[in-house]
Amino acid sequence: MNHDIWVNGRMVPHEDATVHVLSHALHYGSSVFEGIRCYDTERGSAVFRLREHMRRLIDSAKIYRMEIPYSLEELENAAMQTIQESGLKSCYIRPLVFRGTGSMGVNPLDNKVETYLAVWEWGAYLGPEALEQGVDVEVASWRRMAPNTFPAMAKAGGNYLNASLVKMDAVLNGFDEGIMLSTDGYVAEGSGENLFLVRDGKIYTAPSGQSILPGITRDSIMTIARERGYEVIEQNFPREALIIADELFFTGTAAEVTPIRSVDHYTIGSGSRGPITEELQRAFFDVIQKGRDQYGWLTFVPQAESVASPTLEPGTQSSKSRLPNIDPIRSL
Ligand code: PMP
Repeated sequence: MNHDIWVNGRMVPHEDATVHVLSHALHYGSSVFEGIRCYDTERGSAVFRLREHMRRLIDSAKIYRMEIPYSLEELENAAMQTIQESGLKSCYIRPLVFRGTGSMGVNPLDNKVETYLAVWEWGAYLGPEALEQGVDVEVASWRRMAPNTFPAMAKAGGNYLNASLVKMDAVLNGFDEGIMLSTDGYVAEGSGENLFLVRDGKIYTAPSGQSILPGITRDSIMTIARERGYEVIEQNFPREALIIADELFFTGTAAEVTPIRSVDHYTIGSGSRGPITEELQRAFFDVIQKGRDQYGWLTFVPQAESVASPTLEPGTQSSKSRLPNIDPIRSL
């Protein structure tokens, strides 16, 4: 179904949400965006970590000197309104902020900043069976960008040229996904996922300074794992650590928690989902499927048709006073 799209504060029919061919973003990749999921939990439709995603959108825009003319709360409300009007119980939410028309040079400072938000139905990104069986991946020949080239912490359209090269190579080579190394050779992340490694009961992931996008699912899994008593270590590790890992898994809004069963045809652990991966995956699914949310991560979609402001899990702080609890710089 083609649902209405929120365009600069108005709901617009799907087919009318168009852009001009001379939009700066189309020529120079000057867009920032988010990927968010709304789940049909047993306790009603709820958006996962809405505030943290909208904060990252604002951060990404700030890095690129784009001024979004909407507040965090207005962006949250835009998501709620678009979900409500779509009638979808679960969906993927895509806010997009980009440089539109203006001048046609590289300098985007005079180009209008446009804000769109669309929703659509989306199942498991790497296939439903991948969540149980795991995926086969390769180490990509393309590297993540170096920190002094352009900012990995911004979720910007242009970054995904690199990601698309990695994903296309992986698929054409018969793999599900590619893992990128940083320019100094350490393991960074997948084309659209963060990566975790388990060895001897300890959990490792690349630090956020290692040219990764500091993922919101990554933060959620680190929180769940630490709460369950696991040591989670953010550190650089080399490619061969992947091969000798007991377990590997990806995290991301799209991929959720997806086990990796092989890397470059090396079998990882037992060659299927490992026990720690399964435990963390189950705890994560308890939140998003059962709606059991002791973390304040879910924003329930109001049922009443006319109300377009977010409601929170009963017992959590109000949306206005609750601050996003991800600090991407914390582990630099
Ligand atoms: N890395 C990259 C490059 C991504 O595109 C994504 C997906 N947004 C992630 C990691 C995972 O981030 P999140 O858990 O916030 O979706």
